[in-house]
Amino acid sequence: MADKRILVTRSSMPPLEEYVAEIAPLWESHWLTNMGVKHQQLEADLKRYLGVDEIALFTNGHNALECVLEAMGLRGKVITTPFTFASTTHAIVRKGLEPVFADVREGDYTLDPEKIEELIDDETCAIVPVHVYGNLCDVDAIWDIAKRHHLKVIYDAAHAFGVRREGVSAASFGDASMFSFHATKVFNTIEGGAVCFRDANLKKLLEQWKNFGIMGPEDVEYVGGNAKMNEFCAAMGICNLRHVDDEIAKRRIVAERYWERLEGIPGVRLSRPAPGITPNYAYMPVVFEDECGTTRDEVFLALRERSIFSRKYFYPLVSDYACYRGRFDSSKTPVAQHVADRVLTLPMAADLPLDDVDRICDVIDELASR
Ligand SMILES: *Cc1c(COP(=O)(O)O)cnc(C)c1O
Repeated sequence: MADKRILVTRSSMPPLEEYVAEIAPLWESHWLTNMGVKHQQLEADLKRYLGVDEIALFTNGHNALECVLEAMGLRGKVITTPFTFASTTHAIVRKGLEPVFADVREGDYTLDPEKIEELIDDETCAIVPVHVYGNLCDVDAIWDIAKRHHLKVIYDAAHAFGVRREGVSAASFGDASMFSFHATKVFNTIEGGAVCFRDANLKKLLEQWKNFGIMGPEDVEYVGGNAKMNEFCAAMGICNLRHVDDEIAKRRIVAERYWERLEGIPGVRLSRPAPGITPNYAYMPVVFEDECGTTRDEVFLALRERSIFSRKYFYPLVSDYACYRGRFDSSKTPVAQHVADRVLTLPMAADLPLDDVDRICDVIDELASR
């Protein structure tokens, strides 16, 4: 029992028979990809679940983000956060845009609206904030700034599937929101992603950009790529979506056990949902402040010795990546730097046994109270 491995996450899967029943018709149709029946059904199911009118599905969240940046025809500078996964910044850079990093807020690690405006200049075209750990950005303040300066807002909502504010889905803020349906996310299609958006005209553009820019059999208008979700991934999504509310309810029990056990340990900062927010319990981030009896790295190693695998997520800051060396100055985003140096995401999954949560919390409690 002592060396049973606890991984940082565990992918949600439907019962095998349910998936087999979902894909069985594909053996009759032999239609495996290119916006088939499963693709169309998942689009409809997700529109209903997310409460949006417009959605486009993709091979993964990253391609979805690249595609929407391209389809919007953006040029110039994009204000974004360095406290994110590689994908957010890489998508901006790979589309020929220039990332400009603004700092994050202390409380929820999302882009600080008060740090955005001073960075806007004539070349700024968009803001790409991230709903970090499913914590919703200050969407009203960001929208306000964007409208005043005629900027597009594209959310990286990869962590925010199912999150709502006063009943309104995270998918409905800004001009567009990208979701990731990667195996490790709250809702998965094995690999997959989507963009939800406001302007109905974007739909056709996104469909073309994800399919080589093909408009018709003899008409290719854009130098598009290939980012179409296939039928097997769509079928996985159809099944997983039926169970996602149960999965989130189970995650809630795990999260509440963590919070109950860790709250009150001096120097341990937890990330609780803000008032009015329906959370998805996607991650269990813990920040070990300097007054804590232990450090992030010490906890990381102590857990690893016991075959418990946590993750320094997000560390390092994107602005400190080797591939961006010399281009950015991370000391200009001190809050992001502070958090990246001290944060650890603990194992979190719908079926994580509470005994395992207790074992993890015992380790932290012991180290912190020496
Ligand atoms: C997972 C993730 C992505 C990328 O999604 P993929 O589906 O893996 O391409 C982008 N941004 C953030 C914040 C993520 O966590």
